[in-house]
This record gives sequence, C-alpha cells and structure tokens, in this order.
Amino acid sequence: MAVGGGAPVTVQSMTTTKTADVDGTLSQIYALAAAGADLVRCTCNEEAAAEGLARIIPRSPVPIIADIHFHVEMALAALEAGVQGLRLNPGNLRKPHEIKLVAAEAKDRGVPIRIGVNAGSLHPDLYKKYGGATPEALVESARNELAYFAEVGFEDVKISVKASSVPLMIESYRLASETFDHPLHLGVTEAGPPPAGLLKGTAGIATLLAEGIGDTIRYSLTADPVEEARAGRQLLESLGLRERKGLDLIACPSCGRSEIDVIAVAQAAQDALGDRNLPIQVAVMGCVVNGPGEAREADLGIAAGRKRGHLFIKGKIVRVVPEDEMVEALVAEAERLVAEGVEARLAAADAGAEAEAEADRRELLDSKGADANASETKVELIRKRFGDEGDPAG
Ligand code: SF4
Repeated sequence: MAVGGGAPVTVQSMTTTKTADVDGTLSQIYALAAAGADLVRCTCNEEAAAEGLARIIPRSPVPIIADIHFHVEMALAALEAGVQGLRLNPGNLRKPHEIKLVAAEAKDRGVPIRIGVNAGSLHPDLYKKYGGATPEALVESARNELAYFAEVGFEDVKISVKASSVPLMIESYRLASETFDHPLHLGVTEAGPPPAGLLKGTAGIATLLAEGIGDTIRYSLTADPVEEARAGRQLLESLGLRERKGLDLIACPSCGRSEIDVIAVAQAAQDALGDRNLPIQVAVMGCVVNGPGEAREADLGIAAGRKRGHLFIKGKIVRVVPEDEMVEALVAEAERLVAEGVEARLAAADAGAEAEAEADRRELLDSKGADANASETKVELIRKRFGDEGDPAG
C-alpha cells in the first residue's frame, strides 16, 4: 500500500482490542477494512501482542502497522512478527542508540516507520525549550528523529505532528510540509466522541487536504473504530480524493413544501442502504414539485407527493409508488441500478410514470400554489408596508 509520492490519500484506523486476542482483533480489522480503512494499526505493548501480530498479519486483508511506545524490544518484536509498518513516538522512545537500532532493523526488512509526534507526549526537553507544545517544537521533534534515522541511512519515513487543538494541529502540519519532503500522516488526536470529535477531525484534516497537504489520514474518535474508518473514507470521497466506494446519500433540508418527514425517510434509506456498499449517489427529496429537478445529478432518488413516491434516475421519473413503499422501492432500484447500469434502468421505466408524476405535480401546484413557503405573499406584504408608510428612514 503506497503512501505519498502521488499515491491516493489512504485511510487508517486503529484496533481497540488486545492484540493478543487474535480472533477478536482480526474481526475488528475486517470490519475496519470493510468500512474503508486501507491500513490498520494495532498496539504492540507486550510480548503476547507481538505474538498476536505474528498470527494476525498473514490473515489480515490490509497491511498492519504496529504502534510502539517506550519499549524498543516491542519494536524489534513487531518487525520479527512481520508488520508492514511501525509507528514510533519520539516523545517516549528516547534513547538514540535504541532509535537507531530499530531504524537499522526496519531498513534491513524494508519496513517504513512513522515518526508519530504528539503534542501531548512531546519530549520534555523540547517542551522546555519552546515553553510548550508549539508547531516549532513538534516539527523539531520529528527533525531530531529523522537525524537519528539518517545516521543509519534509513529514509522510508512518514511523519505526523498531531495535537488535540485543531489550530495547533493545522499550523504544525503546515510547518512540517514546508520543512520535510516526507509523506505526512494527518490527524487531530484525542478528538473525543462524535459528533464533536468528527467535526474537530474534519476541521483539521480537510483544511490541510484542501491545501494539498497530507498523504494518509486518521480520525481519532472515542467510538467504535469502524466510525473512524467510515469517516475517513467519506471525507476523501467527498473531497474527490478517492473514488466512491460506498453510498452517498443526499437529502433536501425540507421546507414548507415537504410532503413527508424527510429526516425519518432519509434515515430509513440510510439504514437500509448504508451497509450495501453501493457506489452511487441517492437522493431523498421532500416534494415532487422541486425534488427531481434539484437532485437531477443524483444517480437515483425519490421524491414525495400526494401520498406517493416518485422514483427517478438522473432526474427522469421511472416509477410512481405508494408512499409507504418508498424506501423499499428505492433499495430495490439501487441494487438493480448498480447491477444493470443507468441506460438499462431508464429503458425499463414504467411507461406511464412521467405522465402520472406530472399529474401529481400539477395537482400539488394547483392545491398549494407555486408559493408553498408563502415567500411571495410575504414579499407582497412587505412591499405594501413600505408603499403605505413611505420610507421608514425618512
Ligand atoms: S422544495 Fe421540495 S425538495 Fe426542495 S427543500 Fe422543499 S421539500 Fe425539499
């Protein structure tokens, strides 16, 4: 799995199981891979964990990175187990001869190392020198580690300079990208539980990715790590940095025209479609008057009106179904669409669907008027007010 050098940005996550629990860890790794993780990190904090890695790696669907803190033997044991990457924390694996020993061993085995600097566990000397965990301090920590690696001719390195403060994280990575040519692993550390953790992670990671900074990403959430992998994948897909692999559900915010509870129907559609990994954009729209037009770029969508659902493909109505069958019809059509393609499904449209849908639209426009939100009526009232009372400032 290439990281950096123009390769697509990758998604990482980390297992929460004991690495010694081989089956439990593997089942989490499979769940993470299914949710979008390209690489998975496991802690290697004891001999049993290293032994677990030796059994996990041959059965894992994705490359495994060992997370190392404090103990040089754990890094060497992880290499022995056959890991595809190491993460070293320079804040707590500090002895130069040990760092060089690991780098030399990694070099011999062709295994990359991430220098994982973390504001919360910055080397005490740097903390003192800079009066805190500043961007300069984090970058200097990575630079010092690189210098040890250079002494043994090891260069296969990724760098991260994480912080739980989003502004500090952003500034640190900007400085790191100016300072180093190495691939950068992005993350806001200890971001906390969703939704705040997701927002913090996105604020930091997306800002940097939009600036062209970053080669691999990890959301650090206090949640099932599957959520981290899913969020990482969705972020990359939404930024157009990775091809769509899973569903993109869009829904209108709903308004006075809405004929259904859009939140409930969108949730039901998400629940029904979410795990099917269909690489399409599906729209749930509150009304048939504007819905199919507003969502005409979606591969598939459904709009509600007069107790019926108008199913549309690329904005073209293909079927009209009873309202209580909307989600069911959407799921069935999504699967057929992925299996057969747009042209085939448009050709299979119900003959009278367009006319039936148009009749619903007309009826709604006639009964509710073209101004269901009463915007034009309000504008008229405001105009009348100014007309009646003259210039209020005068
Ligand atoms: S006009 Fe229709 S589709 Fe647009 S937000 Fe309102 S209910 Fe949704």
